[in-house]
Amino acid sequence: MSETREPTQRHVVITGGGRGIGAAIAERLAVDGTRLTLLGRDMDKLEATATRLRRSPQVETAAAVCDVTDEASVAAAFAAARERFGPIAVLVNNAGQARPASFAGMKRALWDSMIAVNLTGVFLCTQQALPDMLTAKAGRIVNIASTSGLRGYKQVSAYCAAKHGVIGLTRALALETARSGITVNAVCPGYTDTDLSTQAAAGIAKALNKSDAEARAMLVAGIPQGRLMAPEEIAETVAFLCGPLAIGITGQALAVAGGEVM
Ligand code: NDP
Repeated sequence: MSETREPTQRHVVITGGGRGIGAAIAERLAVDGTRLTLLGRDMDKLEATATRLRRSPQVETAAAVCDVTDEASVAAAFAAARERFGPIAVLVNNAGQARPASFAGMKRALWDSMIAVNLTGVFLCTQQALPDMLTAKAGRIVNIASTSGLRGYKQVSAYCAAKHGVIGLTRALALETARSGITVNAVCPGYTDTDLSTQAAAGIAKALNKSDAEARAMLVAGIPQGRLMAPEEIAETVAFLCGPLAIGITGQALAVAGGEVM
């Protein structure tokens, strides 16, 4: 088996690394020797996370503005990242958004924006990182999908379609890269305690004239463990998939969802 030791000085790129699940992944992957590039639109949030990580002298961290829906922005951000820290060894496609709308009432613009950020963004970033991994004959790609990639939910059909697409892309690319030392997997969080689930609860509260606490209880009611996931739990799964002994795991869609999907 090749690649049985933790690689040193590997360059890890995380999209949406400034807050929520992405920031937790950054904290978890920031082991000695790692070079981390955090991408997102909000430089203040990215810098705040990067500053926390820089407290460890063994971790090099850079933050850069990148809108994953914008091909030129993605190309520029990845070129700058490669220039700074060298070839990309790990890509975590985490950036995402969920905007609710009934299917019947959905405007084309909302559909397009959900596909752009949640699916096309994964395509654009992966196309930038993959050549480095093919050259190195090693690499890890982890796509943060969702239980919305494994089942349907009312009021978020565009988001569900995009996340199902991410899982399809994951499975297909895993086959294309299976002999190249690269693994491609999806992690599928259930409702996780971040801005995204807070906004989802606020949307339910508004639509059903409930309090935020009642709306949050409705989200939790669908989860067999009776709780939201913590961002750190998603990060731990990502770290496992990026570890040397996970080389045999590829093309998987792994739910971290308190038993919501089986
Ligand atoms: P947050 O809303 O807390 O964070 C979203 C992240 O995505 C931010 O870092 C944001 O960065 C980034 N982002 C959004 N749009 C863009 C864009 N166009 N370009 C670059 N970055 C962007 O959500 P979570 O941390 O919860 O979500 C992370 C991932 O987990 C998403 O893919 C989401 O779909 C998925 N997920 C979350 C669940 C949950 O309940 N929280 C459940 C299932 C899946 P910035 O604002 O700086 O651009």
